[in-house]
Amino acid sequence: MPDATTAEKTTPYWWDAAPVRPIPPRPLPQAVDVAIVGAGFAGLSAGLVLAREGRSVAAFDAANPGEGASTRNGGITSGNIRPDFATMVRRFGEARAIAIEAEGHAARKFLYRFIAEEGLDCDFQPTGAFKGAIGYRQYDAMARSAEALRGKVGIETYAVPFAEQRNYVGSDFYRGGAVRMDIGGLHPGKFHAEILRIAQGAGVAVHSGTPVTGIARDGDGFRVATASGTVRAGRVLVCTNGYTDRAAPFLQRRLVPVRSRIIVTEALAPETMARLMPRRMMLGEGRQLGHYYRPTPDGRRILLGGRESGNKGDPVGPSLLMRAGLAQIFPELADVRLSHSWFGNVAMNRDMLPRIFEADGIVYASGFCGSGTVWAPWIGMRAAYKLLGQEARASSAFDFRPPASVPLYRGDPWFMPTIIQGYRLQDRIAMLRARR
Ligand SMILES: Cc1cc2nc3c(=O)[nH]c(=O)nc-3n(C[C@H](O)[C@H](O)[C@H](O)COP(=O)(O)OP(=O)(O)OC[C@H]3O[C@@H](n4cnc5c(N)ncnc54)[C@H](O)[C@@H]3O)c2cc1C
Repeated sequence: MPDATTAEKTTPYWWDAAPVRPIPPRPLPQAVDVAIVGAGFAGLSAGLVLAREGRSVAAFDAANPGEGASTRNGGITSGNIRPDFATMVRRFGEARAIAIEAEGHAARKFLYRFIAEEGLDCDFQPTGAFKGAIGYRQYDAMARSAEALRGKVGIETYAVPFAEQRNYVGSDFYRGGAVRMDIGGLHPGKFHAEILRIAQGAGVAVHSGTPVTGIARDGDGFRVATASGTVRAGRVLVCTNGYTDRAAPFLQRRLVPVRSRIIVTEALAPETMARLMPRRMMLGEGRQLGHYYRPTPDGRRILLGGRESGNKGDPVGPSLLMRAGLAQIFPELADVRLSHSWFGNVAMNRDMLPRIFEADGIVYASGFCGSGTVWAPWIGMRAAYKLLGQEARASSAFDFRPPASVPLYRGDPWFMPTIIQGYRLQDRIAMLRARR
């Protein structure tokens, strides 16, 4: 029995029902139409489209498929755009801001249709999501954003005043919030396993435990070097997101991996779950380092995630920090036992927007900024249509210039602990300003 401070398992909760596994080894082909680096949601979704359009596709993953972020995440179909609507209007103009938000809406709708039409068994529940405001001023801004999104993009979203908050989350921690009904939750382990199943069924050759070590031009195609040999590929698509390494140096300079940790509680009494999460919604909050949390699909446990300060170290301290975050929202859970605690990498770029771009003939689909459950399949598929030259289907507000490289960065995010501390300080100041 674990003591009260440690989790029973340091592997993702999702792996209990959907363990990640190696694919039985197969000989490398000499040549393929498209080589994909990374077999998470993005790489496999792209491979599915390409294979169904008759292309020969090899997808390489350094680890087991899904062992990156795709089976480690919260499974919240947020399709979140980090910059808020007002900031995007300032930065990119109103037309692009509306196009980006509208694409988020389309991408979520597409995901739900994709799950239904392909018959993907992944515990998807269209519950809606509540986001809590840390002060009344933030609540007012959320209410205005909800009104704009409802009016301009047609999203079913509304503000929830403090007096009605407990109908959504059993806590007085927030000062009201906003609900979006186009967000739900799924089981990411099962979802990934199902995409893998249909991608393989369509003919994608998935090579697990096969790191790509270099990509070089070769006439009108590429030579893709892997740990198991070299493959000639007509086109190359890189979908390595928060696990990008030296095999893709152009991308590596533009994406910063940030560690995110998730804890899961022991099974709680049904009446506790009904009180704390009365509508079984997905939950989040307006702090910079806000937590995201939800009931597990069986409704018996609470899963909570957030950013981790460091990139190294043992799991006990960070797990306790997460549990303290949970207790801030639900004080009665201060001593709750944890069944699981694990981490994974999300990928941030300087625009804080997902991106498709091409450089030296290689196409990249990445930068999901912690919201890839919706974005990775969507952007992966748009990237596949781009490779196929199907312009109308490839069209995306996220297909534009590569994000700028990060100064003084070559793959070791040494500055992240300082940045996280800075955000933590901003959150403290914001909480004080909100007179809390
Ligand atoms: C803890 C956590 C919680 C999250 N919660 C949510 C959430 O609730 N909702 C949401 O929308 N998003 C969430 N996300 C983000 C989401 O999981 C990711 O955005 C998404 O899974 C990215 O998918 P991907 O296919 O781009 O990358 P990944 O799934 O990370 O796959 C990249 C793959 O590339 C492989 N790779 C890297 N380099 C090489 C190489 N040289 N050769 C071969 N293979 C290579 C890696 O092994 C890896 O498997 C969360 C992420 C984390 C870590």
